[in-house]
Amino acid sequence: MTGTALGMPSVRRAAPVGAPSDGPLLDTFGRAATDLRVSLTDRCNLRCTYCMPAEGLEWLPGDDLLSADELSRLLTIAVTRLGITNVRFTGGEPLLSRNLEGAIAAATSLRPRPQTAVTTNGIGLVRRAAALKAAGLDRVNVSLDTVNPEHFARITRRDRLRDVIAGLAAAAEAGLSPVKVNAVLDPVTGLDDAVALLRFCLDHGYQLRIIEQMPLDAGHQWQRDKTIDADLILNTLRREFDLVPDPAPRGSAPAQLWRVDGGVGTVGVIASVSDAFCGACDRTRLTADGQVRSCLFSREETDLRLLMRRGADDDAVEAAWRAAMWAKPAGHGINEPGFLQPDRPMSAIGG
Ligand code: SAM
Ligand code: SF4
Repeated sequence: MTGTALGMPSVRRAAPVGAPSDGPLLDTFGRAATDLRVSLTDRCNLRCTYCMPAEGLEWLPGDDLLSADELSRLLTIAVTRLGITNVRFTGGEPLLSRNLEGAIAAATSLRPRPQTAVTTNGIGLVRRAAALKAAGLDRVNVSLDTVNPEHFARITRRDRLRDVIAGLAAAAEAGLSPVKVNAVLDPVTGLDDAVALLRFCLDHGYQLRIIEQMPLDAGHQWQRDKTIDADLILNTLRREFDLVPDPAPRGSAPAQLWRVDGGVGTVGVIASVSDAFCGACDRTRLTADGQVRSCLFSREETDLRLLMRRGADDDAVEAAWRAAMWAKPAGHGINEPGFLQPDRPMSAIGG
C-alpha cells in the first residue's frame, strides 16, 4: 500500500528518575493508570476524513507488529504487575486482526480478570459478535457518525452503513452490553446527524457518545473553528430532547452523561478539546508495534517490542512501562500556543 508516510517518532525518552518499582502505574501528577488501550493493527477498511487520507497510509510492516505471544506477555505484565483493570482493543480496525479473539481470551484468562471492550467501526461484526462474546468480551463501542447513507459515504469514503447497522444489532443480540455508539460530527451535517443518531440509538437501546473532533488526522488539517464543540452539540440536542444531567458520579469517565426525555436512555458528550479531562486520565496505551504511549498526544514512545526481542525479562519490561508512565505530561496541551500534533495519526495510535 502506498500513501502518506507515518513519520514515526524517533525520540525515545530516557527513564526519568523516581518511577516507583511496584504498586499502581503512577505518573508524577499522582494519576494511576488502570485502563489499557491496545491497538491491534494500524490498518482499516474505512477512510474517515478526520482520521485517514483517502489513499490510506503506509501500513506498519508485519514483522514490526507484536506477535500473539508478545502481546499476551505484555497483557500479563499489565494486569498482574501494573494494576490494569480494563483492557480495550482498538486500532486501526481491530476486526481486521485475526488475533482479536485470542487477545481477548488472553486478557480474560488473567487474574484479577480485567474488563474487556472493543472499539470498532462495526464492519464484519455481524459475523464475529458471537465469537467475541465467547472469547470473553464484555462490551463494544461501535463508531457511527450518521445514520444518513449519503453522509456516511462522504465521511467514511465507503458505502458501508448497512454493515455497521447490522453489526450493532449483532452485538446486542450476542449479549455485548451495553452497546455504545461513538460519533465524531461532520462540520457541515453533524448537528442534524446528531439529532437523528440520538433518535436511532434511543430506539435501539444503544448508548450514544459524541466526541469532539481532535487534531489527530493524518493530514494535520484539523482547525478548531471547523469543528463542532460540546456546547453547540448540547444546545442543538436540547431543542429536540429534554436533557437532565445523569446523577451517577462521573469518576474518570470522559463523557458528561445526560438522561434523555425522562427515560432510561442517555447521551454522553465528550469535550476532549473544549473541556479537557486530562486531570482525571487513567489511561495507558500500547500501539500495534509495541510502543507505550502515556497520552494520545504523546510525541514520545517507549519501545517494549525492542526490549522483549533483545531478551529483556519481565522486571525490565515492567520498569520501562512504569518509567514511560511516570513521565506522562499533565495534559494534551491542545489549547496551549506551542501545541504540536503527534506524528502518528489516530489510526496508528489506537483511539
Ligand atoms: N476503527 C475503529 C473505530 O473507528 O471505532 C477503532 C479505531 S478509531 C481510531 C477509534 C475512535 O477514534 C473512533 O470512535 C473514531 O471516531 C475516533 N477518532 C478517529 N479520529 C478522531 C479524531 N480526529 N478526533 C476524535 N476522534 C477520532
Ligand atoms: Fe478507520 Fe476507525 Fe480511523 Fe475510521 S476512525 S478510518 S474506522 S481507524
